[in-house]
Amino acid sequence: MNAPGVGEACISRGRATRAGTPLFSDRRTTRSEVGVVLHLCGDCNERAVSRYGRRLTEHDMVKIAAGAAGLGGG
Ligand SMILES: [Zn+2]
Repeated sequence: MNAPGVGEACISRGRATRAGTPLFSDRRTTRSEVGVVLHLCGDCNERAVSRYGRRLTEHDMVKIAAGAAGLGGG
């Protein structure tokens, strides 16, 4: 999942969050049960807070990455 050029994409919107991008400083990173590294950019994190009324858990991030949940909008 970390192939060159992917840019450590946000699990929700797919924007690159790698070091050196504007999204890097606010991103959240977690790791799924199977060891896949997941990133969520700060914009999507804020959207999640407004949608769910709380910060996303690691489990939420895994679900979003799997396409089983979404943040909508955008
Ligand atoms: Zn995002």
